[in-house]
Amino acid sequence: MALAENPIMFANNPLDRAGHQRGNPDWLAAQLAAETALIVPMWNLQPLVLPEIQPGDGRDVGYLPKAAFGEAFDFERADKAIVFLGLNRWGKPLFAADISHMSSPEDIGPFRGMGIFEDLRALSAIGDMPRTELAILAQAKGMLDWNLRHPFCAQCGSPTNMLEGGYKRICGNCGAEHFPRTDPVVIMLATHEDQCLLGRQRGWPEGMLSALAGFMEPGETMEEAVARELQEEAGLEINSVTYLGSQPWPFPGSLMIGCMAEASSLNVTVDEVELEEARWVSRADVISSMQGNGPLGVPPKMAIAHQLMQAFASGK
Ligand SMILES: [Zn+2]
Repeated sequence: MALAENPIMFANNPLDRAGHQRGNPDWLAAQLAAETALIVPMWNLQPLVLPEIQPGDGRDVGYLPKAAFGEAFDFERADKAIVFLGLNRWGKPLFAADISHMSSPEDIGPFRGMGIFEDLRALSAIGDMPRTELAILAQAKGMLDWNLRHPFCAQCGSPTNMLEGGYKRICGNCGAEHFPRTDPVVIMLATHEDQCLLGRQRGWPEGMLSALAGFMEPGETMEEAVARELQEEAGLEINSVTYLGSQPWPFPGSLMIGCMAEASSLNVTVDEVELEEARWVSRADVISSMQGNGPLGVPPKMAIAHQLMQAFASGK
């Protein structure tokens, strides 16, 4: 049975990641050698995006056959920066390749005139691409980013080699295995009766308020992390925590864990180092702000904080 469609941005990745096959180097090499293989070039972690064919149709990811890369990428090199994404619904193997060594690939070289290399955050805010494609790009960005940032062993400092299409790196010296990191972050909307607690960090757009958030620490459950963060940032006591949903957040490698937290009172003491402001906001003001009628600025739809506030607004 498939999972139901999820309204959270970067969810609904449709690929078969072939986790039981990609560990076999022969199988993986055959996927890259296949004529059906498609590779999205990524420049400074920005994917190639093709223009619309018909106005209003939306844009698509620039998946290209190997031949289209010309001299821009050496598929024979042992240390090539290319990650396996999975098999699409037609069984075609998809990859993402780093072409950051090129100086201006939109204007010079084999990708000239094909489209633009676009930041994933901007792309997901524009919303003119299928959400399933944005989910695949989140995987591509997270995977390439981690591999590019981990050329050396964290244990002994020697070079590491990529294995299993990028889902593992192994140290050539001490043999330590390293796996792509996902750093969990709790993001929570504290509520008390008909109000929710929103905060803002310095530098945010004027008037914008959002749910509070923080990295989980070793040795705590997500409920404990929610309670600790609310205590640290707002001096708030919590009675209960409810999990709402999670979001891959490849900026650079987080998993946002969205929760609702029931506060025992309205007593708040703001940590002014962490937050510029935190205050209770009525459900009526949240509803009106979500509809674009103020008085607050709210996080964009692509952020899970938006779903948390939507859940509160709808009384769930
Ligand atoms: Zn090592």
